[in-house]
Amino acid sequence: MTATISSADQLLEQARHDGIEFFFAMFVDMHGKPCAKMVPVEAFDVLMGGGAGFAGFAAGPLGQTPADPDLIAVPDPASYTPVPWQPGLAVVHCDVHVEGEPWPYSPRVILKHMLDRLADRGIVLNVGAEAEYMLVRRRADGGIELADELDTAKAPCYDAKALTRMYDHLTTVSRYLNTLGWSNYANDHEDGNGQFEQNFRYADALTTADRMIFFRYMVHTLAHRAGMAATFMPKPFANLTGNGLHLHSSLWDAGGRDLFTDHHDPRGLGMSPLGYSYVAGVLDHAPALVAVTCPTVNSYKRMGVGAPQSGATWAPVYATYGGNNRTQMLRIPDAGRVENRGCDGSANPYLAITAMAAAGMDGVDRGLDPGEPNRDNLFLADPAAVAARGIAPMPPTLAHAVDRLVDDAVLRDALGKTPHGDYVDYFAKVKRDEFFAYHAAVSPWEIDQYLTLY
Ligand code: GLU
Ligand code: MG
Repeated sequence: MTATISSADQLLEQARHDGIEFFFAMFVDMHGKPCAKMVPVEAFDVLMGGGAGFAGFAAGPLGQTPADPDLIAVPDPASYTPVPWQPGLAVVHCDVHVEGEPWPYSPRVILKHMLDRLADRGIVLNVGAEAEYMLVRRRADGGIELADELDTAKAPCYDAKALTRMYDHLTTVSRYLNTLGWSNYANDHEDGNGQFEQNFRYADALTTADRMIFFRYMVHTLAHRAGMAATFMPKPFANLTGNGLHLHSSLWDAGGRDLFTDHHDPRGLGMSPLGYSYVAGVLDHAPALVAVTCPTVNSYKRMGVGAPQSGATWAPVYATYGGNNRTQMLRIPDAGRVENRGCDGSANPYLAITAMAAAGMDGVDRGLDPGEPNRDNLFLADPAAVAARGIAPMPPTLAHAVDRLVDDAVLRDALGKTPHGDYVDYFAKVKRDEFFAYHAAVSPWEIDQYLTLY
């Protein structure tokens, strides 16, 4: 990729060099749904001068009614991303404005606000994201089945044969990641049948959030072109491992000095006292934080539940941390970074990173210490014994998590204020409506359980 593009002129020059004919001016709603208008290069000055206008109410939850003025998507030149499978097309991620001001319901605006606060303190947050997804097909009856009908092994993780059967799709994604300059470093078959993960290098938090939106858009598009559907849904199949979106954090100073690594760490994990405080902050806020990092009804079918057919969910049950131990919510796999496994494929990356950073920084501000790392297998631990150690379990449903979120003053502050109140209350309303819409549906489980029981 090219050096950072910071102005409209540089963007146009690069776009001309790349033969770009069309731009997608892209932004997301609360759910992380990518929305775009297609703008031809001939209208570049209109796009960069005035932005692209949208009826916000139609786009998704963005704090608008049908009576409100247009959302204006203002492109960030630095986010320019030529679309590898569609020569002539480029995506630019946008900050949503209304009546000339950044719109506080725009997830990208919310994250930028958090990163500005960190920058004021001379801190840079870098984030790596591990997106898991499954390749499926819709059946005629509306259900889903795995795209690879041979992918039936009980323990399919790292299966070379299943990896080979999806070689065309996986190598196409890998090549495109590298064309984009994102440094794809691994691609594997994950623990669920039909499940894959394709990793790219960490970057600053905003870049990684933009890339996650683009990555999901790319994988969906390529799967569709190959006659499949990709899903990042947390738990598409009750009997298989779910789709995580593990987020790796590290803090740096403005001069590029790593604030998390400490090779003299007496706990032997290579983490600095500041890093441990960040860990403790994330744990302290975990029951509220998961409302943002695991934001759907379906999220809670991935976490805190019993083993699927492979033997382990690999998803957290409790708010704990450890070293290289995947039964913990927070894992310190190597010196200088911490992985949050309590985030799933339905997360809006802008909001998830905002809330996680706020939780971690609260730990830093309060100088918290998380205690000694947990070394046990928490998937096997007796819940009563864990409770006796004062360890919080994950909220069992979205409704429980949202109840915790609205009571969390730090996350409330981090998600910001809107013209109509705190964003967190808007988020909670949308999510409670989602939960009760789900709750109102009568499921096959209920029919099986209750129809003739009484
Ligand atoms: N799929 C697991 C999850 O839902 C994670 C598996 C892994 O450790 O990569 O978080
Ligand atoms: Mg994984």
